[in-house]
Amino acid sequence: MEVPFLDLKRGYAKYGQEIENEVVNVLRSGVYLNGPYTKELERRLASFLDIFYGIGVSSGTEGLYLILKALDLPRGSYVLVPAFTFIATSEVVVRAGFIPFFVDVEERTYNVSLEKLKEAYAFLTKRGKKPSAVIVVSLYGIPADLERIEEFCQENGIILIEDICQAFGAKILDRAVGTFGLASATSFYPTKPLATFGDAGMVFTSDEEIEKRVRILKEHGQTRPYFYEYHGINGRIDEIHSAILLVKFKYFKQELELRRNLASYYIERLKGLEPNLFLPEIPKTYFPSWALFTITTPYRDQLQAFLKEKKIYTRIYYEHPLHLQPVYQELGFKDGMLPVTEKLSKQVLSLPFFPYLTREELEYVVHSIKEFFQRG
Ligand SMILES: *Cc1c(COP(=O)(O)O)cnc(C)c1O
Repeated sequence: MEVPFLDLKRGYAKYGQEIENEVVNVLRSGVYLNGPYTKELERRLASFLDIFYGIGVSSGTEGLYLILKALDLPRGSYVLVPAFTFIATSEVVVRAGFIPFFVDVEERTYNVSLEKLKEAYAFLTKRGKKPSAVIVVSLYGIPADLERIEEFCQENGIILIEDICQAFGAKILDRAVGTFGLASATSFYPTKPLATFGDAGMVFTSDEEIEKRVRILKEHGQTRPYFYEYHGINGRIDEIHSAILLVKFKYFKQELELRRNLASYYIERLKGLEPNLFLPEIPKTYFPSWALFTITTPYRDQLQAFLKEKKIYTRIYYEHPLHLQPVYQELGFKDGMLPVTEKLSKQVLSLPFFPYLTREELEYVVHSIKEFFQRG
């Protein structure tokens, strides 16, 4: 048997015909941007999160960038970001004219905790560099400690932004991830939980001023036809992607359920392997969107090679901590400064995971992992 890490074609077999019909409708309509499909998608997704506004944008990255620009903070402001995330989270901080400050994460949730944020906040504040904002990521779709972080941010005048690019559909109790803080951005990149077949994203907020600003900024900063009051970008979503996403969204809850069942299955079957293998720890009130299913093991590289020999394909998100990337050298972070991030980058392994993975495939993956550890 061969188990792909991710096979997008299986989902397509299910709703491909519907998508093709809708794409043809867009093509024949003569409206390709800022049209009815985008408006409907914005309305539906905002309502799904129970938030006032959704603003379709060209990608998750641009969504985060647009939020930062909409804040109108002074140049050189400090923004806290996790060191263990995709580079887009910190890339936008630099591009918006601010300084990223990397925060370590927790080993079993992969996310920043309130404690880690507090430490970084105290460190900077003591040096007269009080951070203005924080971008919290709910990595792999596992909610970060958002309730407590939100409270801390409110008490200390820090703007909370959420990167929910892997966490659209995740919840804490009944509250959607993406509704904590001032604004959030998600991605519809092909491998994300809600995805199109190309690049697109959405910004969510209940703040009227942020909504207005992001809409202006994604249209080059235009406030009336060909009149520009802000430095903006071309950051729109296409009607084709909105139409595709409206079809995909019909299946989203069902796919989320499949993801949760698969994750439960992995957890049930892989527990008790410590200290060889550790599973993510999910509080009872947290409902991840499970963009990825990631374990940690001190034998990561050997396990990955063993599985590959069995034609089971796994991936590493992320192998190189952000604070040690060449591009951030000037920030002065050194090896050893963010130990959990550094450890995770050597120990995380994402297992085959997508809604249409079969029971047989899962069983084979679990069986092979156990075989690896039993061999000693
Ligand atoms: C995918 C991703 C992004 C960027 O989204 P794009 O749509 O690819 O620009 C940002 N942050 C995280 C955590 C992501 O996983």
